[in-house]
Amino acid sequence: MVDNVVIVGGGTAGWMTASYLKAAFADRISVTLVESGKIGTIGVGEATFSDIRHFFEFLDLREEDWMPACNATYKLAVRFQDWRRPGHHFYHPFEQMRSVKGFPLTDWWLQSGPTDRFDKDCFVMASLCDAGRSPRYLNGSLLEQDFVEGAEEPVGLTMSEHQGKTQFPYAYHFEAALLAKYLTGYSTDRGVRHIVDEVEDVRLDERGWIDHVLTKEHGELHGDLFIDCTGFRGMLLNKALEVPFVSYQDTLPNDSAVALQVPLDMKKVGIRPCTTATTRDAGWIWTIPLFGRIGTGYVYAKDYCTPEEAERTLREFVGPEAAEVEANHIRMRIGRSAQSWKNNCVGIGLTSGFVEPLESTGIFFIHHAIEQLVKHFPAADWRPELRDAYNSAVAHVMDGVREFLVVHYLGAGRDDTQYWKDTKTREVPDALAERIERWKVQLPDSENVFPYYHGLPPYSYMCILLGTGAIPLRPSPALSLTDETAAQKEFAAIRDKARHLVDTLPSQYEYFAAMRGA
Ligand code: FAD
Repeated sequence: MVDNVVIVGGGTAGWMTASYLKAAFADRISVTLVESGKIGTIGVGEATFSDIRHFFEFLDLREEDWMPACNATYKLAVRFQDWRRPGHHFYHPFEQMRSVKGFPLTDWWLQSGPTDRFDKDCFVMASLCDAGRSPRYLNGSLLEQDFVEGAEEPVGLTMSEHQGKTQFPYAYHFEAALLAKYLTGYSTDRGVRHIVDEVEDVRLDERGWIDHVLTKEHGELHGDLFIDCTGFRGMLLNKALEVPFVSYQDTLPNDSAVALQVPLDMKKVGIRPCTTATTRDAGWIWTIPLFGRIGTGYVYAKDYCTPEEAERTLREFVGPEAAEVEANHIRMRIGRSAQSWKNNCVGIGLTSGFVEPLESTGIFFIHHAIEQLVKHFPAADWRPELRDAYNSAVAHVMDGVREFLVVHYLGAGRDDTQYWKDTKTREVPDALAERIERWKVQLPDSENVFPYYHGLPPYSYMCILLGTGAIPLRPSPALSLTDETAAQKEFAAIRDKARHLVDTLPSQYEYFAAMRGA
């Protein structure tokens, strides 16, 4: 039986894994987590995917329990600022695409959209973001949407099984360090052994499997299964087991970031219910509003910008509020481990892989990996089929997200600096060029996007293509031969619903101030 798990690393990946394994297997397994007291974590103030709620539900945690402890807020969309041209913005919302007569509403929008804002015409969430609204009323009830709370399938299914059936209308922003602390309490309360110590060596047996890790103060830690959550270091998987790293740098050149955590009076400035990604000369800046501060950072390619220039650009963007705040410079390893599971070691989190946080996929990768690990959990015979299935599910998710991110850059109208000019001539991953040719005459659908589960439904691709603007699109020819009355009615219904929701929902600040009893 495989029932003794040792996790090395106490960042978001380590603690999410420890708590999920305990929620799944309770006392049937023993879990030890060792983290360094000297090496810090990456967590910079995090935005997530809407599927993350399955993680909290699986742990049986209510929003009122964990959100105030992690300064968390709601995220209804990603707002893309200046990707098409200066002053332009659009949203990629958590909202299922409606269809009329078998064609997605965006197709009808290309044919005869009522305004030049596809996001506002096709989704209600865009209006809620512009107006800074919470997706819940002050009594806690969820906004009326196509998603009906409580009507979905029970928790415990994997995310891929949920996809396409329902779309929960929001994700979260939270402070990663506070979430790790919260999950430390959750995990240790359920029996996880927590050790603060340095792992100094990884010892292999004669087969090349991990026998134990050697710590400075606590000696040898033995286990059946070792989870490498040491971040970009990949101490067990990449270093000890020599699993190579497959870089995505040829297609996604951003390899650096500089981050600031800026305290703000949120009552005064409000809490935008979205993550914002604003272009700059050599990359883009994220803005993640939390309760009490914003997390912000410039993601850039060091071939086009020095760290000093990047920090200056970020400070100019934020303004005087950040004058006293120390900047955190981060080098990013972009790509994935060739295998995330080798022998008796599984890498989760940054060890397994990472792409720039343009669509907030880091924690999604972690959550997906943990679910897959539970689904493919090994028995004493360590059947390689389980490992191989795990490895291909994890690789597909990351390769698919890579493609999706490349579409943002190819599609961006912005082309005024060398960095943005080069986004149009850089190598494109296999098969994507062919897919783009198809999308020029037929909007993305489940038949013509990346063919494996990667968390992004076809409507996400439509949003990016329609919003960024450089790839020419056209409506299906059939629409010019079809009566459009029903589509126009749908546009009108969305406009009316958005207006009603903006008028009746509280602001994000009001909602969280009430949750905290402020
Ligand atoms: P880390 O946080 O690096 O943790 C590594 C752990 O390993 C630490 O506890 C450390 O002490 C321990 N360790 C290392 N070596 C040893 C040793 N020898 N002995 C003992 N312990 C050791 N994701 C999102 O979902 N949304 C976002 O908006 C987002 N933004 C990001 C922005 C940037 C710039 C970056 C770089 C990442 C971002 N991510 C985001 C990704 C997210 O931060 C990570 O996926 C997440 O924090 C998981 O990190 P980790 O736990 O794998 O590694």
